[in-house]
Amino acid sequence: RTARNKDRRVTQANDTPNDLAAFWMPFTDNAYFKAHPRMLVAAEGMHYTAADGHSVLDATGGLWCVNAGHCRPQIVEAIRQTAGRVDFAPTFQLGHPLAFEAASRLAMLMPQGLDKIFFTNSGSESVDTALKIALAYQKARGQAGRTRLIGRERAYHGVNFGGISVGGIVGNRRPYATLLPGVDHLRHTHDPARNAFSRGLPQHGAELADDLERLVALHGAETIAAVIVEPVAGSTGVLIPPVGYLQRLREICTKHDILLIFDEVITAFGRVGKATAAERFGVTPDLITMAKGLTNAAVPMGAVAVSRHVHDTIEGSGPDGIHLFHGYTYSGHPLASAAAIATLDLYVTEGLFEKAIELEDYWADAVHSLKGARHVIDCRNIGLIGGIELEPRPGAPTMRAMDVFRRAFDEGLLIRTTGDIIALSPPLILEKSHIDRIFGKLAEILAAVD
Ligand code: PLP
Repeated sequence: RTARNKDRRVTQANDTPNDLAAFWMPFTDNAYFKAHPRMLVAAEGMHYTAADGHSVLDATGGLWCVNAGHCRPQIVEAIRQTAGRVDFAPTFQLGHPLAFEAASRLAMLMPQGLDKIFFTNSGSESVDTALKIALAYQKARGQAGRTRLIGRERAYHGVNFGGISVGGIVGNRRPYATLLPGVDHLRHTHDPARNAFSRGLPQHGAELADDLERLVALHGAETIAAVIVEPVAGSTGVLIPPVGYLQRLREICTKHDILLIFDEVITAFGRVGKATAAERFGVTPDLITMAKGLTNAAVPMGAVAVSRHVHDTIEGSGPDGIHLFHGYTYSGHPLASAAAIATLDLYVTEGLFEKAIELEDYWADAVHSLKGARHVIDCRNIGLIGGIELEPRPGAPTMRAMDVFRRAFDEGLLIRTTGDIIALSPPLILEKSHIDRIFGKLAEILAAVD
């Protein structure tokens, strides 16, 4: 039997059989990984276990998603029990109670008025869902000319066509010629000349929100459906909004009757010390996209919180029947709903959002302790997010941050990198001792890499 299985091993391009060949890994240097696999085989609390048995302290919450720590028994048990009771139930023209309960629980965490929940399976789907809801809303209220969507440079809104169209990561857009038409982008808010080593929100740059006035003047407000921004941009290297920027964007959207969408796929669920960045920064958008921490990443699930006004406008348009022609087979999947309910419970019973606030200063001190470390040209922080930018190393075969990533993993620390920026987003259950270890190890590695 083993021999037969061996025969069926997949061949690589060079025809050598390899058990790793079949899985085309996402956003990965596949050839490098398959030559030097770094496998994670178990997880608990703040740690992963690697295939060779070494323990790895998780300073990235998986991929910004394991906010309550790994393999929490309450969540595992909720999934296990549900799987044995109702494996799947459609939510098209039918329902099951867990999806309604998960939606009600989630709605209670949202800013006032954003109490209608549409379920998806990922952040990318949440983004495309929100963009479609914005367009459907404009049409439903008799403003069908408002079809333009506004994103921002350096934004990451997932990988579906809507998300890459409003997104601003050039490498994610360039290979796919056909993007949504009628999209424009605000300038990004990152200004190292004025704001390097800012602690918390940078002081300079609120006026960058006025860039929306430029786009309104250029295209006409009557053509613009919605603006989408990440309150804190994570995947493009931890870009923190300047003081007053989000407030100003909200004011300009309101003035021109444009919907404002916050993409909170990474910022929701305590990452910035509140249920949402909207709450933390005191700015209420019309729609919020979420995923990741919603189920503590134990089962894929995303959601869009929609203002009652937007929802009622769409649902009140035309005669009875379906009004929003959109949905996924797995919208409100029972296992995901069960995981979401258990996760939201855990956030409350363990006070994890408050814990992020309590630790924020200690975390900020630790992030900024790397100012002056070799190669470091900027440090940024908010909530339990940290960004450490390294000086680029032109002409080298790998980015310096990638060398730090690989070395850190082998020495028991998981970080995330994007370009030459190290991004940190640990589970919110971490203790001060974990913070000391994360930054002690990083300081050591930065001193050692070329
Ligand atoms: N939007 C933002 C702000 C994100 O950070 C991400 C993922 O990191 C996404 C959307 C896409 O989420 P997913 O990978 O679940 O599709």
